[in-house]
Amino acid sequence: MANPESVLLTKKLEGKVAIVTGGASGIGEATAHLFADHGARVVVIADVQDEKGQTVAESIGAHRCNYVRCDVSDEEQAKAMVNWTVQKYGQLDIMFSNAGIVSKSKQTILDLDFSQFDRLIQVNLRGMAACVKHAARVMVEKHIRGTIVCTASVAATRGAVHRTDYAMSKHGVLGLVRSASRQLGEYGIRVNSVSPSAVVTPLTCEANQITTKDVEKIYENSFVPLTSLKGIVLTVRHIAEAVLFLVSDDSAFVTGHDLVVDGGLNGLPDPKRDSRN
Ligand code: NAD
Repeated sequence: MANPESVLLTKKLEGKVAIVTGGASGIGEATAHLFADHGARVVVIADVQDEKGQTVAESIGAHRCNYVRCDVSDEEQAKAMVNWTVQKYGQLDIMFSNAGIVSKSKQTILDLDFSQFDRLIQVNLRGMAACVKHAARVMVEKHIRGTIVCTASVAATRGAVHRTDYAMSKHGVLGLVRSASRQLGEYGIRVNSVSPSAVVTPLTCEANQITTKDVEKIYENSFVPLTSLKGIVLTVRHIAEAVLFLVSDDSAFVTGHDLVVDGGLNGLPDPKRDSRN
């Protein structure tokens, strides 16, 4: 547990206005809390889970966190959410574009279901890009040297044994980040991604239609043996800390980078035991 005084001395986001998409749950929720702990003036949670989003916002504090309903796959909603934030708080320093889904079924290329594929790409890639686009537009317009982070995945740098659509979407996120970082550098805007390995969240439970305990067991069997780093299990807090590094001045000269948070994952889990790839 961090000493509250040392946290106070090292607050990294004092006065910043941040948006966290997918902030009602999992990685986004942990990151919203961490941003607030580090002095963010306000954190806007953009999500489609109203009850959960409001609960997270209340737990952070009504004066420092707001929940806004926004389906990121609809560009107009993404634009309206960004504009609402800027109108209400006068600035936007940080966009954590993180909302994502997995398809109901695991599919190889042989049984790729294009209706599930279309929806997944709409959220994971189109939605991610819409949030980056509209955040970048207001940062450029207001001369803000902002920071943007997208959530990719270890699935972005290797093929998947199934979940073809998911791996494709996350490869696309790297293309988005690399291109946007080159295009926005001249405005002083940094764009990076974070690529977590498998971590237990509602997304992973829902993907496999099993409980947290079962997901933990599957990870123990399939990911832990392939991870170089032993004696530690990936949590959403580890990912939030990586995002904090990327949005803060600690990474002031880092852009176009994909920060992999995988404990040194070697190779692919055994498809017979793997739940996520
Ligand atoms: P999660 O399900 O806990 O959180 C995802 C959030 O995104 C949810 O609150 C959900 O309501 C929201 N969301 C979904 N569709 C949306 C939409 N159209 N508009 C707005 N919000 C929407 O899952 P998580 O594991 O925290 O996932 C967060 C990100 O991390 C995703 O992009 C996911 O692909 C990525 N990721 C997760 C893992 C993992 O193992 N959990 C690994 C690598 C990458």
